[in-house]
Amino acid sequence: MGERVEEKSGIDLLTKDRQYVWHPFTPLVGSEDNLLVSSAKGAKLHLEDGRVIIDAIASWWVNLHGHANPHIARAIARQAQSLEHVMFAGFTHEPAIQLAGNLLSVLPDNQDKVFFSDNGSTSVEVALKMALQFWHNRRQSRNRIIALDGGYHGDTFGAMAVGERGPFTKPFWPYLFEVEYIGLPSEKEPEELIAEFEGLVEKGDVAAFIFEPIIQGAAGMRQYSSAWLDNLISSARANDVICIADEVMTGFGRTGRFFASDFLRNKPDIFCLSKGITGGSLPLGATSCTRDIQQAYHHQDLHKTFFHGHSYTANPLACAAANASFDLLISPECQRDIDRVSASFANFKKTVQAHDRVQSVTHMGAILAIEFKSNQQTSYINEARHELYPFFLSKGVLLRPLGNIVYIIPPYVISDEELSLVYNAIQDYLDSSQQV
Ligand SMILES: *Cc1c(COP(=O)(O)O)cnc(C)c1O
Repeated sequence: MGERVEEKSGIDLLTKDRQYVWHPFTPLVGSEDNLLVSSAKGAKLHLEDGRVIIDAIASWWVNLHGHANPHIARAIARQAQSLEHVMFAGFTHEPAIQLAGNLLSVLPDNQDKVFFSDNGSTSVEVALKMALQFWHNRRQSRNRIIALDGGYHGDTFGAMAVGERGPFTKPFWPYLFEVEYIGLPSEKEPEELIAEFEGLVEKGDVAAFIFEPIIQGAAGMRQYSSAWLDNLISSARANDVICIADEVMTGFGRTGRFFASDFLRNKPDIFCLSKGITGGSLPLGATSCTRDIQQAYHHQDLHKTFFHGHSYTANPLACAAANASFDLLISPECQRDIDRVSASFANFKKTVQAHDRVQSVTHMGAILAIEFKSNQQTSYINEARHELYPFFLSKGVLLRPLGNIVYIIPPYVISDEELSLVYNAIQDYLDSSQQV
């Protein structure tokens, strides 16, 4: 039984936190107390105990324009005073219509309609269901899905099924549908993999191919060749396989272009968007698709309807936040910030990759990932992060390594001084006697 939590001191609150709240990706025993955040501004988190932490990973890759961004805050406040929410079947509203228009104005020309949901995982569920029902509506039996090795698409069942079968999803393996996985060019000859892929799609029973374009986030910011992906998409195309780009992490300027798919010649049929969509302020997912995909749903027969929706589909507050974030994103200032961060990363890469404890460095736009040399295999469960995470926090920097890979995905507004503090923390670690 709980009791109402009145205003309490930090210590009291943390006791209640332990008692009442179950946190994501966090063991129920053996983990430290969570850090109590009282406010945040720009790239800085202000803790209740007075400490200030630089958010070098944009709070799980969502924040673009800084915390408590005034333009986004005003848009949310204004929207809350006129329409906070309304069901989205049979009703519509300006913030959603505007946002769909905004998204389609920057997505590739083949994108034609937007379906809203609540987060990255649901944007992927929607994409998978949209692709599978496309074939069902067409009365064609295509029920296999191809995904890339090491992918991460979220934590709901469909999203887990198309992701890497790792320790995080092990309890659910018996319930996950079968997926064909294709290795990345770093693991095998690219030509061999393309041939393998062609062999699969030529069988005629593949419904869709899903991928994180060009850089896989949770796999450790693993970059791969856009030309190779272009080849796979073109072979999928030739065999009518629906291509789904999961741009949940890569979207909204993160890779230096608006979408990672902007580096591709062949445009995907479906896009999954979330994370940066609201600038990191409110949860929202969006799945866009081509006109061709909708055609299979354009039918008098009610059974061909896409019967999918969420209570908070296209929440007006989230849409208003996304439109405000979009204003900022297309401003020249934001582009300058992205270029500035990217140039700073290019410089730091040169310095750090020479260090004898560094295995490799990946840099793409406002993403920098440093792989430390380690005796253990690279994985989420790699012990390294248990040492690295508190080390960086003690230096006032939030970096949450994926195993022995430390990555920086900052809000674009992070200042040069703040970036220096982040770099210094990493240098301190490399120069310390601690071993991963
Ligand atoms: C984070 C992520 C997701 C899942 O998004 P949630 O909002 O956490 O459900 C899906 N795909 C990719 C590529 C991601 O990085």
